[in-house]
Amino acid sequence: MILPEITPLTAPYWAGARERKLRLQSCRACANVWHPPSPGCPRCGSPDYQWIDAAGTGQLHSFAVIQAAAHPAAQGRLPLVVALVRLTEGPLFLCNLLGCAPEDVRVEMPVRLDFEALTPEIVLPQFRPLG
Ligand SMILES: [Zn+2]
Repeated sequence: MILPEITPLTAPYWAGARERKLRLQSCRACANVWHPPSPGCPRCGSPDYQWIDAAGTGQLHSFAVIQAAAHPAAQGRLPLVVALVRLTEGPLFLCNLLGCAPEDVRVEMPVRLDFEALTPEIVLPQFRPLG
């Protein structure tokens, strides 16, 4: 299994995920909300930000269906729907779409946050169809 590396920058994000919350950075200067984590606001450059809890809702922006395992980590998970979700807060979020057969995936379908615990330390925010 390939696990993400927790860094000082991303530690609040992973701590949130362990509490089943999706944390995003929000700029105190211009109110921009972004993901993935970065040390400053991608829009105005301010290093002054706070972590906010996302609502956990969004729409499917784009997706790809992985049919063949190019890496052993993908074996047993195929077909895998890799999704780009437009969060209600604005940022795009790359994840897996859980609980949805590839033939049922539709762009702009409403999705909701879910979590997949890989280890006690690493819990991945993922999405699944709403309802
Ligand atoms: Zn900003």
